[in-house]
Amino acid sequence: MNARNIEPRHAVVIGAGFGGLALAIRLQASGIRTTLLEGRDKPGGRAYVYEDQGFVFDAGPTVITDPSCIEELFALAGKRIADYVEMLPVTPFYRLCWEDGSHFDYANDQDVLDRQIHARNPADVAGYRRFLAYSQAVFAEGYLKLGAVPFLSFRDMVAAGPQLARLQAWRSVYGIVSRFIQDEQLRQAFSFHSLLVGGNPFATSSIYTLIHALERTWGVWFPRGGTGALVRGLVRLFEDIGGRIELNAPVARIDVAAGRVAGVRLEDGRGFAADAVASNADVVHTYATLLGQHPRGAEQGAALAKKRFSNSLFVLYFGLDRHHSQLRHHTVCFGPRYRELIKDIFKGETLAEDFSLYLHAPCVTDPSLAPPGCGSHYVLAPVPHLGNAPIDWETEGPTYRDRIFDYLERRYMPGLRSQLVTSRIFTPLDFREQLNAHLGSAFSLEPLLTQSAWFRPHNRDARLSNLYLVGAGTHPGAGVPGVIGSAKATAGLMLKEMREGAPA
Ligand SMILES: Cc1cc2nc3c(=O)[nH]c(=O)nc-3n(C[C@H](O)[C@H](O)[C@H](O)COP(=O)(O)OP(=O)(O)OC[C@H]3O[C@@H](n4cnc5c(N)ncnc54)[C@H](O)[C@@H]3O)c2cc1C
Repeated sequence: MNARNIEPRHAVVIGAGFGGLALAIRLQASGIRTTLLEGRDKPGGRAYVYEDQGFVFDAGPTVITDPSCIEELFALAGKRIADYVEMLPVTPFYRLCWEDGSHFDYANDQDVLDRQIHARNPADVAGYRRFLAYSQAVFAEGYLKLGAVPFLSFRDMVAAGPQLARLQAWRSVYGIVSRFIQDEQLRQAFSFHSLLVGGNPFATSSIYTLIHALERTWGVWFPRGGTGALVRGLVRLFEDIGGRIELNAPVARIDVAAGRVAGVRLEDGRGFAADAVASNADVVHTYATLLGQHPRGAEQGAALAKKRFSNSLFVLYFGLDRHHSQLRHHTVCFGPRYRELIKDIFKGETLAEDFSLYLHAPCVTDPSLAPPGCGSHYVLAPVPHLGNAPIDWETEGPTYRDRIFDYLERRYMPGLRSQLVTSRIFTPLDFREQLNAHLGSAFSLEPLLTQSAWFRPHNRDARLSNLYLVGAGTHPGAGVPGVIGSAKATAGLMLKEMREGAPA
């Protein structure tokens, strides 16, 4: 037993997004004294919360899938999720709408799905069954088996190779969906999901069709009180088991001594010594800025900055003096173009004239998120990141907001402007400035096959063996279940090293 085994172990986690929170809970629940340092004034990261005049706006994730990965965090700590947060089922999962006035209710009911598919194209009923079977096979392999396994060596990747080949992982999401389904709008309905984690359906590996099976298996949920209530529940859980969280605590640097990470220093000068440090912050920010003074940070930061990053988002939060009962909780408003618009979003150098939107109307499930009779909403448009389209969002933002309001009022929410009580926007500049997101990307590295699993930044750094990553930029990737899975992978490595005193 060496000296490190008898000292009390202390871990520092930088950033209180879902990934950072889940990791901190896992470590603390396993007996590692854990300090969580968050730069902003509230926890949650992308899942921040804005409140204004009685309206509550979840800033980011609203479609909560795989509740079992969240329940597991409570169970590990010997607690029950029900004592912290109530999860409400959402049905239909989404309403998908097109400009020709048609819609498709994506529900977890085979008959409801079959009827709607049949009405569009009878042949697609059988095609959909085959697609579902495919996505279930990918789900079993890619999520249940490999979702929380760290890919530290290329051997791990080679081992997964035959399965990836059998599932034709080189095909795109849209490519696979098109093999089973003929109707173009149905192809959109079953391929847009990868956009939820920053994946271009025309370029992202068909592995991401697993999201469909994941939703069909566990449903779509919404916490009472909003996603923010889930974040608060996780923070309370962490504190109840003895964890320490500091808000308004931006980390300025990760200190290295004798080839190992020694701790972190905050912008206000305070230092935290640590046996291990995990960063939930953006991966380029982690290496290039926080570790920029060390050759490893400078080198890895420069290498990561050259990778392909996911699109950004323009998000518009707004409160109305009434509830629009014609809306569903989640609506996807497809614009006139699909393939071409997505190309503009991922590769375009300017803002497209048209848009496809996601509209959030949480008061459908939980009216307490707005004053009585009122409605809280957000609408988001995927837009290019700042590296592709260096748009001046200070001036473009208000114009874009007005175009989106006009569109929503015309097609989905009559009278919207006259009912407006409050609104605010979050642009790619805010992703960059407030979340330290490289190029203002909303989802970190693009989930291409060549940037996934072993090819994604590893859960543990290859050189500094007590530096770890957690969150969207590491394996398996973005999305709430993804980053919670990354916490499981990272915690496994950290616990092994911190208990045994050697890299796992
Ligand atoms: C608008 C939007 C909608 C989305 N909708 C969904 C959805 O419906 N369902 C779904 O599953 N996923 C959704 N996602 C994706 C999902 O929200 C993210 O992939 C996930 O929340 C990212 O979590 P993370 O752990 O990587 O950390 P993040 O949420 O990115 O948090 C990182 C944290 O690190 C902090 N930080 C950064 N730098 C420092 C520093 N130097 N010092 C201290 N702290 C620092 C940040 O302030 C932040 O709090 C959405 C994303 C967005 C943006």
